[in-house]
Amino acid sequence: MKRIAIMTSGGDSPGMNPAIRSITRTGLHKGLEIFGIRHGYQGLLDDEFIPLDSHAVSGRIRDAGTFLGTSRCPEFIKEEVQLRALKIMEKRRIDGLVIIGGDGSLTGARALYRYGLPVIGLPGTIDNDLFGTDMGIGVDTALNTIIHLVDMIRATAASHRRCFVVEVMGRGSGYLALMACISTGSQVAVIPEFRMNIPKIVQELDRRSTNNHNASVILVAEGVCQGAEFMQRLVEVGKVKQEVRLTVLGHVQRGGTPTHYDRLLASRMGEMAVLALISGEKGSMVATVNGKMQLRDFDDILDRRKGLPGDAIRLARNIGIEIGDVVES
Ligand code: ADP
Repeated sequence: MKRIAIMTSGGDSPGMNPAIRSITRTGLHKGLEIFGIRHGYQGLLDDEFIPLDSHAVSGRIRDAGTFLGTSRCPEFIKEEVQLRALKIMEKRRIDGLVIIGGDGSLTGARALYRYGLPVIGLPGTIDNDLFGTDMGIGVDTALNTIIHLVDMIRATAASHRRCFVVEVMGRGSGYLALMACISTGSQVAVIPEFRMNIPKIVQELDRRSTNNHNASVILVAEGVCQGAEFMQRLVEVGKVKQEVRLTVLGHVQRGGTPTHYDRLLASRMGEMAVLALISGEKGSMVATVNGKMQLRDFDDILDRRKGLPGDAIRLARNIGIEIGDVVES
């Protein structure tokens, strides 16, 4: 292992930069040459490589996003395109690759690994929907951003005694909505893992209104429906009496300055990826399981659905958060 490349792909997450920094610095420390690939798989196909030295990653630990850039490259699912990418890696004499991204990006990583390229993946996703790791890089920062914003919304909601619907990210997972609901003291989480119960939600809003609670907050994961659609259901199906307002948090959720947790997680995962490549490991993702770092084979973690942590579901129910009904399978 002499030359390794780093790539970020798919949706950006705060902590990708600290990961790139850690991979670069660890690799240099171990005597490797390090290259960054710009703009994900598209940049790889366009042969956009840049050498990375210690100075190139200086100060990056503080920045959200990814200074290498990222992209979505739908054609990468085709075999002939993957083989083109492999040829470029051979031409560049790259011995190992670290890819930071979500489920889609790591599926692309597995394809390259199956052709024989040593690849290690890092879970870079704010949704925390990657099976096999307790946390993804960027989840903690996204949650802190959501908490900060919902706290501010609650202040104005309380002043006017309103109910607020807040749409948060989470395409296939209610993790952000559920965790933020617990941490902000919100009343309802509308999440894809459970079926929303509009009459129960309205009953809870009415109860709070009657008991002189100043504000109610409902967090809706975007994977269920848009916040506006949910509000319409509250009004048309639930005949809610209270005044309801909507806030869509949108892309600010990705942009927060990485928290201590994410800086440390990204740094540790980046270090482990390089040490793994040096020791001959390949075809796996760095994961954190019960606080311990582990390598997990791509085949064991991809194409699998990650559920919400059972203890968080229990906690939400025990402290009176309405999270909907169990979906019969
Ligand atoms: P994320 O990595 O955040 O889940 P995407 O699902 O958009 O984001 O995937 C990012 C990129 O990974 C895609 O644009 C594509 O280039 C690559 N990718 C996704 N799915 C596959 C697949 N099944 N096979 C190969 N490459 C894939």
